[in-house]
Amino acid sequence: MSEITNESIMKEIYEKAGISSGVFELASKALSEVDKTFSKIDAVAEYNQARVLMAFKNQKIGYEHLLGSTGYGYDDAGRDKFEALMAEIFDAEDALVRAQLISGTHALTVALRGVLRPGDELLYATGKPYDTMESIIGLGDNPESGSLTEFGITYAQADMANGLPDYDEIAAKINDKTKMVAIQRSKGYSSRKSLSCAEIAKIIEVVRAKKSDVIIMVDNCYGEFVETKEPTSYGADMCVGSLIKNPGGGIAPMGGYIVGTKEVVKMCSSALYSPGLYKEAGASLNINRSFYQGIYMSPVVVANALKTAIFAAKLYEMVGFKTIPESREERADIIQAISLGNGENICAFCEGIQAASPIDGHITPVPYAMPGYHCDVIMAAGTFVQGSSIELSADAPIEEPYNVYFQGGLTFAHGKYAICNSLQYMINKGLINI
Ligand SMILES: *Cc1c(COP(=O)(O)O)cnc(C)c1O
Repeated sequence: MSEITNESIMKEIYEKAGISSGVFELASKALSEVDKTFSKIDAVAEYNQARVLMAFKNQKIGYEHLLGSTGYGYDDAGRDKFEALMAEIFDAEDALVRAQLISGTHALTVALRGVLRPGDELLYATGKPYDTMESIIGLGDNPESGSLTEFGITYAQADMANGLPDYDEIAAKINDKTKMVAIQRSKGYSSRKSLSCAEIAKIIEVVRAKKSDVIIMVDNCYGEFVETKEPTSYGADMCVGSLIKNPGGGIAPMGGYIVGTKEVVKMCSSALYSPGLYKEAGASLNINRSFYQGIYMSPVVVANALKTAIFAAKLYEMVGFKTIPESREERADIIQAISLGNGENICAFCEGIQAASPIDGHITPVPYAMPGYHCDVIMAAGTFVQGSSIELSADAPIEEPYNVYFQGGLTFAHGKYAICNSLQYMINKGLINI
C-alpha cells in the first residue's frame, strides 16, 4: 500500500498508458487544489447513502424482490416495492419506475401527456427546455405528430434573466389555463446556470402564491443526489428522470422514473399503459435487481462524477480554457462544459476520452450529422450501457462557442485517467503546450 502512494509508481502506470509525466504532474497539482471540495461531496454522498439504506430497511426489501415477472406482470412484488422505495427516497407519495419508460425524454412525455388535457397550458419556468422537449411540446412551424400542440395544449415560457429564474415573469405568465409549471433543474446543453434545490423551492413558492393548484413538475435529469434532498421535498408535485443517468448508478440497463403525488402518478400510469390498468401491470423481466443495485450505488457514483467534473474544470483552467461551471463554483448537476475554442481541440478531447473508455476504446470518434442537430456533432461514449451518461461520456456540436460537454464517471479513478488522456491527446496533436 505504501509504495502505491509514491507518485513515481503512479507516474509509471500513467506513462505506460501514454500520459506524460508533465500531464501527470499538472493533474496532481490540479487535484491538490480542488480536493478540499471533495470532502464536501463525500459528505453529501455519505448522507444520501444513509438515506437510501434506511429506505431499503424501512421498505423491508428482501431477496425475493430482486426477482421479476413476465407476461402481463401482475403481482410483481419486486417492481412494486422498488416504486415504494423510490417514493420514500424522493419524499414523494408514489412512483412509477419502469423499464417501459425508455428514456428521460419518454418519461417526460408520459408526464406531460398524463397530466395535460386539451385547453390546458404548460408553462416552462426556466426558459427554453431541453432540445428533445421541443418535439413533444410541438414548438416551431411543423409540430410533430402527436405533440401537445396537436392536442390543443398551449405552451408558454418564462425566460431566465441573467442566468437565474425570473420570478416576476413566471408569476406574470400564469393564467387561468395554466395547468402545469415545468422546471428544468439542469442546464442541459445550454449556457445558463443549473438550479439548486433552494432556487427551485423559490420558484415553487412564487408559483403557489399565484395559483395554488397548478401541478409543478421538475425535469430532474442529472440532478439526483447532488444535494441531500430532491425537489419533491420542497413541494414539487412530481420529479422526472432517467435511470441511465444518476439514479441508475451505472447499473440499471434502461428505464425512467416519475415520482410524485398519488394523483399525478396515477395519471401518468394511465398515459404510459392504459386507463384502468394503471400501475398494476407491466412485466419487469429481470430488471429489478439492477434497479435496486443502481439506486444503492447512485450516491457514491454521483459523487465520483462530480469529482471528475471538478477535477477536469481545474485542470483545463490551469491550461487556459474557460469552464462552465468553474472549478470553484457550487454544483447543481454533474454536467461540465469546457470552451475549447475550435473543432480540432474538441475532436482531440473526445478522442482522448474515448481511448480511455472500457468499451470501444479502440475506436476513433468523428463528427457527423446527427438527426435533430443543425450541425455536425462528435460524441465520445465507451459505455457498458448504450448512451448512458452517468458513465463517462462527452459530446460537442462543432460550432461556436465550441463547448465540449461531458458528464459521468462511475469511478473517479477512471475520470481522472480519462481527463488526463484528453489533455495528452491535445498535446500530442500539437494543439496546446503545457
Ligand atoms: C438528458 C436530459 C433529458 C432527456 O433524457 P434522455 O434520456 O436523453 O431522453 C431531458 N432533460 C434534461 C435536462 C436532460 O439532461
